[in-house]
Amino acid sequence: MSEQNVNRSLGMTHQDIREMNRKLVLKLLYRHKGLPKSRLSRFTGLSIPAVTKIVNDLEASGHVEVLSGTHQGRGNHQGMVKITQQIPNTICLNVSPLFVSAIALDNHMSPLCDLHQRDIQTDSPEDLVEQIIQLIVEISASAGVENYRLALAVHGQVDIKSGASLRMPHASWQHDFELKYILQTRLKVEILLDNDCVMLALAEKWLHDNNDRDFCVLNIGEGIGSSFLINGDIYRGPHFGSGQIGHTFVGANGLICGCGREGCLETEASIPAMCLRYSGMKGVKVTFSQLVQLYEQGEPDAVEVVLRAAKFIGLTLYNFLVTLDINKIFLYGETCCLGERWLSTIVRETLSNPFESGLHWEQEVTSISFGALTEAQKLEGIGYLWVENELNKMSTR
Ligand SMILES: [Zn+2]
Repeated sequence: MSEQNVNRSLGMTHQDIREMNRKLVLKLLYRHKGLPKSRLSRFTGLSIPAVTKIVNDLEASGHVEVLSGTHQGRGNHQGMVKITQQIPNTICLNVSPLFVSAIALDNHMSPLCDLHQRDIQTDSPEDLVEQIIQLIVEISASAGVENYRLALAVHGQVDIKSGASLRMPHASWQHDFELKYILQTRLKVEILLDNDCVMLALAEKWLHDNNDRDFCVLNIGEGIGSSFLINGDIYRGPHFGSGQIGHTFVGANGLICGCGREGCLETEASIPAMCLRYSGMKGVKVTFSQLVQLYEQGEPDAVEVVLRAAKFIGLTLYNFLVTLDINKIFLYGETCCLGERWLSTIVRETLSNPFESGLHWEQEVTSISFGALTEAQKLEGIGYLWVENELNKMSTR
């Protein structure tokens, strides 16, 4: 990893530089679950005395603690620097109307237990809240966690300031509801929440080295969502509507999307769109798992449907690349089981330019790949809302 010391030539004040270096050290401590000062010095490019001063500041402000050096093995560092144990445990939840999953993390954001997940049936927001609370009770008992804060990844569009779920696709209800307020009132705990694609982006950012600048995650399943990391920060937009890549227009096809418009990417490339198209061709209904099976067996219509969907995803990503010039894209979601041929169709379609022969976007600089995060890591991602909250508070001090 190469995280560099702040350049003094950028017209920053001494105070700005001090603050940025404090944040950099804290980020490194979260990322590595603690480091000796010698390695902090190497990662930051700062001298040991400069690192020592920052660590002392962070210790005084209650962010970190320094363990005695005697049991830390070889090396001339003076003790291990870790995130303070005063930071509470975090229970992370992924919430949709069809399933819930949870994991508990300690003060370093390391898992305290295995992932718990289950499919659910919900007829109302109240049903969903009950399912969430049941899972929290279960996971806190399993992880031995009494005091905790919550981090929620919520399916669909959420207002991260008020904590309301604005629109939850695939729910049997259409209206918004005050998810955070209801849970806070019932559980008396602190809560941060965001969209489930943001969870994936945070997990990629924090749990994979070298993924801390610009990238996009695309989640393709029942719907199609995305989240962008631009210059190291999640881009949310002022109305929490960013990342609605599934509702970009891909062509007049007579198919009305759940959002009310015609010809959205979701009407061509989501799971329901592919199943609907195949069912229409054959006159029989298929589930996604049946379609996948037929596709894997090489049934020509199934192959046509799946690869057609891939081309629409590629077309959208092409538009995205020429607009934003983000060249690292991770694919997640149930459709990833469609495998390499589906992926290579997306890649080919994304990289080809209708105005030039051959490839426009160089393969070496553009990477479109399946995301490699485990289910547990994805969920850990949402816990980093609390870490980013802590880092952001340092800026305003
Ligand atoms: Zn739409």
